[in-house]
Amino acid sequence: MAQSALVDMVHSTPGNPGMDEAGPCFDVAVTDIDKLVQLTLQVEPDLVVIGPEAPLAAGLADVLRARGFDVFGPSAQAAQLESSKAFSKARMKEYGVPTAAYGEFTDPVLAKSYLRTLEAPYVLKADGLAAGKGVVIAPTLEEADAEIDEMLSGKFGDASATLVIEEFMHGEEASIFVITDGTGAVYLPAAQDHKRAGDGDTGPNTGGMGAYAPAPVVTDEILSRVKKQIVQPMLKGMKRDGMPYQGVLYVGIMVTADGPKVVEFNARFGDPECQVLMKGLAGDIVPAILGAATGGLEGNEEAFEALLELDRFEPTATIVLATEGYPGSYAKGSLIRGVKAANELPGVTVFHAGTDVDESGALIANGGRVLNVTASGDTLKQAVDRAYAGVDAIDWPEGFCRRDIGWRALGETE
Ligand code: AMP
Repeated sequence: MAQSALVDMVHSTPGNPGMDEAGPCFDVAVTDIDKLVQLTLQVEPDLVVIGPEAPLAAGLADVLRARGFDVFGPSAQAAQLESSKAFSKARMKEYGVPTAAYGEFTDPVLAKSYLRTLEAPYVLKADGLAAGKGVVIAPTLEEADAEIDEMLSGKFGDASATLVIEEFMHGEEASIFVITDGTGAVYLPAAQDHKRAGDGDTGPNTGGMGAYAPAPVVTDEILSRVKKQIVQPMLKGMKRDGMPYQGVLYVGIMVTADGPKVVEFNARFGDPECQVLMKGLAGDIVPAILGAATGGLEGNEEAFEALLELDRFEPTATIVLATEGYPGSYAKGSLIRGVKAANELPGVTVFHAGTDVDESGALIANGGRVLNVTASGDTLKQAVDRAYAGVDAIDWPEGFCRRDIGWRALGETE
């Protein structure tokens, strides 16, 4: 957004040492709605973009819209497409959108008996927000039974007081991004995330260890089915039911033998998919975002897509550098060197995530996922190679990354 000719200044909260370079950062937590409202009144921005899911679920967009601000991000009601898996499944069922068969449970006996109508592996999901960690795929009935007991007795706190149990879908996953004002829909290139912590898609699920775009699994035919069978009925149904969806709808799909089916919705750009989309885009995203916030996308989609210059979108990959131990427990405070050198390499941009600076001003790790080393190129192969060259320029012994980001698409083109 800072690159847009329409934007004079980007104010962020809480921000990080990377965002600090784009404009002033404030020290208000994303969950402190009252203080966020005060901050907005103080800054008086022309446009508010709400990035993460927690403030959306807590109704920040509603409060700011009621105060007269133009806001990019759905209402609390509409954001339930992400914040409640049970809500999201019920909407899909009602609007006839293809997704895995499911049941919703608070009682372990009923949950276990439903399990016995399905085939292994078993997909168990905490209803509420659990920072991308509330989904467990259990290979056997015994493990699934044990997991049901743990989840219903508070493994993820209130988030797992209700469980969604789903049929397992076979296929390849991809993410589709729809910028919408509730009626019109502008599409960004499809991306593919890498959820597992280890190479070869092994190890525990994480918030995402790397991504690339465009994802070749989303052919024109798949995209047109996603538009007709998933996005259009969802937007129409949500609007009809009095909760129009305004912002970016992240549609996580499984490309199955029967066509695309929804795995999940998110109420925001995914992380790290956002990084590849923003780096790869040749045009300006701000007009579409402003259009979603203020209305007027319907009927003008082609004009907005032209401003994005999607035909010049460059293949892009991002590698997540995470602190050793993530997604389990990890230490904070280790020193990171070489980010500047990485940023100077051809095609490379290093986006900050969980970073901070110590008292001497040196860059340190301050979270699980810490840096996103992102690169574009003429081909995906070149983008991936450039991103790993960036990774190798960074000196951070306490960090780790996957070494196989993009393997599916590279395998298909090599
Ligand atoms: P979610 O948070 O719902 O996207 O689930 C996290 C991950 O679990 C997804 O990205 C998929 O890899 C996997 N997953 C979730 N639901 C299913 C399903 N019904 N069938 C197969 N894999 C699934």
